[in-house]
Amino acid sequence: MKDKSKLKITDIGEFGFIARFSPSFTRKLPKNLVGIGDDCAVIPWKNRKKLLVTTDLLLDGVHFLKEKISPADLGYKSLAVNLSDIAAMGGQPLWAFLSIAIPPETEIGWLDEFFRGWRSLSQKTGVYLLGGDTTRSTEKLVINVMVLGEVEDGFIKYRSGAQPGDVIAVTGDLGDSEGGLRLILNNRTKNQEGSAEKYLLKRHYRPRPHLEEGFFLAHRAEVRAMMDVSDGIDSDLKRIIECSDCGVEVHLENLPVSSALRKCGQKYGWNLDEVAAAGGEDYCLLITVNPERFSELARKYQQRFKRPLFPIGRITEQKGNFVYLKNGQPVTLRKTGFDHFKT
Ligand SMILES: [Mg+2]
Repeated sequence: MKDKSKLKITDIGEFGFIARFSPSFTRKLPKNLVGIGDDCAVIPWKNRKKLLVTTDLLLDGVHFLKEKISPADLGYKSLAVNLSDIAAMGGQPLWAFLSIAIPPETEIGWLDEFFRGWRSLSQKTGVYLLGGDTTRSTEKLVINVMVLGEVEDGFIKYRSGAQPGDVIAVTGDLGDSEGGLRLILNNRTKNQEGSAEKYLLKRHYRPRPHLEEGFFLAHRAEVRAMMDVSDGIDSDLKRIIECSDCGVEVHLENLPVSSALRKCGQKYGWNLDEVAAAGGEDYCLLITVNPERFSELARKYQQRFKRPLFPIGRITEQKGNFVYLKNGQPVTLRKTGFDHFKT
């Protein structure tokens, strides 16, 4: 075992880091506050409403490659990923703050485009940009976004509500964004690429935060836990079972995969189970549902959104136990979800 003082951040990983430092900040919180550990912090606000706060930091070279994403897409995505965390709590986004560290050689035209992309989403969702901070960066572009939203008390969904037997479901296809990322890393982004490639790239560059879906699901009592799919269900479901003290069984043959991802998977030899389970940034919602009421919920959801809810597995009793099944047989996946310090 390593000497504690010599431990590096890469030894404990992103989640080890959070586990090490968060207890000292969450232990003595007043009962009516939710701090570190869910998609948003939840703060008492006005009559029967709570304030939601979320923040995300995006760094060139880690979260995006400045040379490989258009500034308009980057502006859109910076806001979208934060709105997705508001959706995950069942809330409605209200205001945003943007802090940005800009390398001095950045062209104004690039920034104009960044804000055009941002505005295209902020106008659609009614989210006002209220402030932030601007600074010179010595090297790379750094973007930090904070979004505030509101949610009705009693209609908030947490990661901690899952119960053994619950059906696990997602609100959209899995793995498209990872497929898009693989195309980018393999330089398959040119105009002459096929329509399947274009679709995956768009899904990677312009994720749609599932705000209306989140609001709808938060108002259904049979939905017991909710979060957004940001790091991939492999990693995200681990968060749910940690918070809810249970286990999980994922049925790989039920993971929803788009026809575009299937096509590219065949063409480039991708393992689609791994792409769908471990690929991040799909930004759909992941829920657990009282099994007795799942079919009714799925029907209502289909009626409302003209799209299905996809059941992908169930919550089990064995604490911390994570099992993948394919047609009933246990399987091991090579790649696991995203962790910032473990690559
Ligand atoms: Mg989240």
